[in-house]
Amino acid sequence: MDYKRITVAGSGVLGSQIAYQTAFKGFEVTVYDINDEAIARSQERIAKLKGNYKKDLGATQEEVDAAENRISFQTDLAKAAANADLVIEAIPEVEDIKMRFYKELGAVAPAHTVFATNSSTLLPSQFAEATGRPGQFLALHFANTIWINNTAEIMMHPETDLNVFNDLVAFAKAIGMVALPLYKEQPGYILNSLLVPFLEAAELLLVKEVSDVHTIDKTWRIATGAPLGPFAILDVVGINTAYNIVQAKAAATGNPAYRKLADLLKTEYIDKGKLGKATGEGFYSYPNPAFLEPDFLEN
Ligand code: NAD
Repeated sequence: MDYKRITVAGSGVLGSQIAYQTAFKGFEVTVYDINDEAIARSQERIAKLKGNYKKDLGATQEEVDAAENRISFQTDLAKAAANADLVIEAIPEVEDIKMRFYKELGAVAPAHTVFATNSSTLLPSQFAEATGRPGQFLALHFANTIWINNTAEIMMHPETDLNVFNDLVAFAKAIGMVALPLYKEQPGYILNSLLVPFLEAAELLLVKEVSDVHTIDKTWRIATGAPLGPFAILDVVGINTAYNIVQAKAAATGNPAYRKLADLLKTEYIDKGKLGKATGEGFYSYPNPAFLEPDFLEN
């Protein structure tokens, strides 16, 4: 099936980007959020996105205006869903909120409407029954700054209809994404299934005092040709996020290495305001981090 009318539910950071990107590619989009204040914030975000599309993609004023004009806003869920072929959900990453939302949406959306969640950490199977249409439900996961980092991970749960899955893959391509299909449910999708253990391995080498930040990053880069080492990547991800993951691991496993790592991230980085690239300092100092110096990869 060809999706023509798209509703994006939740118009925060990601929802506004998904709505604008979809409209930019020519689709009619309805944005749904819970109240007028949230809608006003989304309209401000979209106004800013127009500047990004001009600067980063070379879009013309006519193009960015036309995209904005294809978006309408709604605070009534039944009206927002009434004509939708596809509802993309980007509401808060809180299980109860999503559960309530899918029950309400399932009751008011037309029978043919497909639902897709942009959740980063919750699995579609958790909400499949609540939607009332498990075969027409799956994950469509975007990355922040969607117009540049244009990945779309499309992930089934055990009951997703294969035709719906294939239609979503085609839709993701139609809105300018590189479609990355996942045929089985996987926490963390592909990227975080690779990245989280990789970054954790590097952090454990540091906290066990096997080696230092520069040596670990150099090793990885020289041996694999990768443009960034794990600690440079951690600075982009942000030390808070790294800390939250390690802290949860420490609590769940009781492993002293994770505890020591969580304490190190807290006292040496978070408490000192070194949260990564966004704050100008993390494992490296910005805007001129040591790993960009010409002799970084030499002895
Ligand atoms: P956000 O907090 O910026 O936005 C959430 C929006 O949902 C707000 O506008 C809020 O008013 C609205 N909302 C709250 N309750 C609602 C309800 N019941 N119905 C409709 N709207 C409701 O959040 P975000 O960062 O955009 O994240 C949204 C989803 O996208 C999450 O599932 C998150 O895991 C996922 N995601 C986020 C990122 C990211 O980098 N921020 C990346 C990929 C995926």
